[in-house]
Amino acid sequence: MAHELPALPYDYAALEPTIDAQTMKLHHDMHHAAYVKNLNAALEKHSNLQSKSAEDLVRDLSSVPEDIRGAVRNNGGGHVNHTMFWKIMKPKGGGDPTGAIADVIKKSFGNFSDFKTKFNDAGTKQFGSGWVWLAGKPGGEVQIISTPNQDNPLSQGLFPIFGNDVWEHAYYLKYNNRRPEYLAAWWNVVNWEEINHRYEAFKSGKLEPALATR
Ligand code: MN
Repeated sequence: MAHELPALPYDYAALEPTIDAQTMKLHHDMHHAAYVKNLNAALEKHSNLQSKSAEDLVRDLSSVPEDIRGAVRNNGGGHVNHTMFWKIMKPKGGGDPTGAIADVIKKSFGNFSDFKTKFNDAGTKQFGSGWVWLAGKPGGEVQIISTPNQDNPLSQGLFPIFGNDVWEHAYYLKYNNRRPEYLAAWWNVVNWEEINHRYEAFKSGKLEPALATR
């Protein structure tokens, strides 16, 4: 079964003014679509891997044959990352975190404001393309990390609770080179309900099928 591009759960313009419609259209229809297409192309050479989820592939890259490992890392990662990304945003999102994620942010970082500062700083400092994450550690604690390219925390044995895309394609049309401005504005479209679902999945020890690419 081929991997499929999921539909955006809202209109291209739904996240305006934080993220403009043209950026959303290019990001979803061109960039994410290309990751899915290239992942499927790579897996044609190893059809025994076609039934695995993209999460399982990036969770254990060492088991992926060397001739397609780089393609799976980049494009499988791109598919996993963007499938999450569309869902953890929503129109009229933002505000203070709620539920269990609010509690763990307070416990781990003192308050939401300090957490945002640290998260945005890590995203700003990620050199070149990549992502900034709140990742869950095997012991149940959480930490802010950044990853290059389309690398996902799953490849490091960490759980991707949520992340923001700091590739220029995510913000350049509206924010130009002002990545910190994009990072600061992004919190206005965050979907805390979905992030709570993901945090609950982390606490239960698995990525629920409903949150995964398939
Ligand atoms: Mn992207």
